[in-house]
Amino acid sequence: EGYCSPSGPIEHTSCAYETIEAVNTELFPKIHELVEHPFFRYYKVDLFRECPFWQENGFCMNRACSVEETEEDGPSSCYFRDDDFCFIEDDSTPDGQYIDLTLNPERFTGYAGDSSHAVWRAIYKENCFGLSEAGFASTAGRPAAKEQLASAVVGAGGFSTPNENGWGFSKLSEGWGTEMVKSASAETCEEKKLYYRVISGLHASISIHICADYLDTTTGEWKPNLQCFVNRLATHPERLSNVYFNAVLVLRAIARAAPYFRAYDVGVAPRTAISAKDSCSTTAGDKATRSLLDEVLSITERSDIASGFDEAAFFQGPDAPILKEQFKTHFRNVSRIMDCVGCDKCRLWGKLQVSGIGTALKILFALDSKQLDPKRNPDLLQRSEVVALFNTLHRISESLNSVEDFRQIYAATQLAE
Ligand code: FAD
Repeated sequence: EGYCSPSGPIEHTSCAYETIEAVNTELFPKIHELVEHPFFRYYKVDLFRECPFWQENGFCMNRACSVEETEEDGPSSCYFRDDDFCFIEDDSTPDGQYIDLTLNPERFTGYAGDSSHAVWRAIYKENCFGLSEAGFASTAGRPAAKEQLASAVVGAGGFSTPNENGWGFSKLSEGWGTEMVKSASAETCEEKKLYYRVISGLHASISIHICADYLDTTTGEWKPNLQCFVNRLATHPERLSNVYFNAVLVLRAIARAAPYFRAYDVGVAPRTAISAKDSCSTTAGDKATRSLLDEVLSITERSDIASGFDEAAFFQGPDAPILKEQFKTHFRNVSRIMDCVGCDKCRLWGKLQVSGIGTALKILFALDSKQLDPKRNPDLLQRSEVVALFNTLHRISESLNSVEDFRQIYAATQLAE
């Protein structure tokens, strides 16, 4: 009721920032619990594929970069089907290993510098239809962080109350993001802007997780790092806006396929991955997973969210089939670029989220309601796609939750001064 207020719509959607924040307050505790259930917690991924684009020497040797594995489950191959927007880690193939995601939180790892920049550059520059040309080269004109800090975090209209520009302080940032999209908009179609927003939103969400769970190397303590958040996010409101956008996109995709997920067997976690404790409690566990999933689905189906994004507005023009193909190719390339990430844990979450967003895009743009009918098409989505999709929603939801935490941390520092 009244969640989607007419003010402050997120660009490309008819949903307001406030709507997403209100929804997230309800969603976060539930999705946070859901991804701990066995079905959603084990993700099969091949972390040993070679980088197909360049020789990757930048392997991160920090302990924080390593991944805790569950049981090994043999050799395999990867493939994609025609509808797929990314390479799917297939449960039925023998390659890869099951990872217990709860043992490997996405957080600061120390992976940085040339290797990580090369990956981001490749994703933006080579695969973003040229939208991010100005990107890495342009740091000139970046606001002097210190002076802009207070106004950026609080914002002209308040950090927590985005105005009609979205955030009320978007003029503060230079370089990447909105400015680029705006300058390119004259000749850039909506689909290309959508693509850029999705990537930038993913990048921003990863940055939020890094800042929210940061290692203080002097004390050895893991804790939120406000300065990190200010530097990477708060002074770049368009990046934050793109995280909200991804929230709308993924929520809408899940809502669209809700009948399909209601019929999905979420009692089955892969045998090889289930620990003895989890497998003993399968029947009770199944019911709990089912009812929690139903609650999450009901949230995504609320009318204010469901009507917040109109997938039918994209890929409609005369060159729609070509654009769709380009979109898919670019997105598949991004999933292959993930094999060039020189830090196992970053690669794990990078792959999972690209797969999750790829699954969302597939549901929105490649499947019609007949195809999404669970009776006609029960095998439409593989387990790994479902796991990736819901964990990606969890990543985004947790990011938005952290943004709220950072607002409070900032407010506390202001009071203390
Ligand atoms: P980067 O984040 O590397 O950004 C490089 C440039 O991109 C910036 O200078 C800016 O111009 C532009 N940019 C930044 N954000 C955006 C945005 N949202 N939209 C548009 N443009 C933007 N590190 C960890 O500690 N933990 C992780 O889990 C982790 N996961 C990663 C996953 C992937 C797939 C990759 C490629 C890297 C990952 N990293 C991770 C590394 C991390 O993303 C950064 O590269 C690293 O922290 C260095 O940050 P930076 O400040 O140099 O800027």
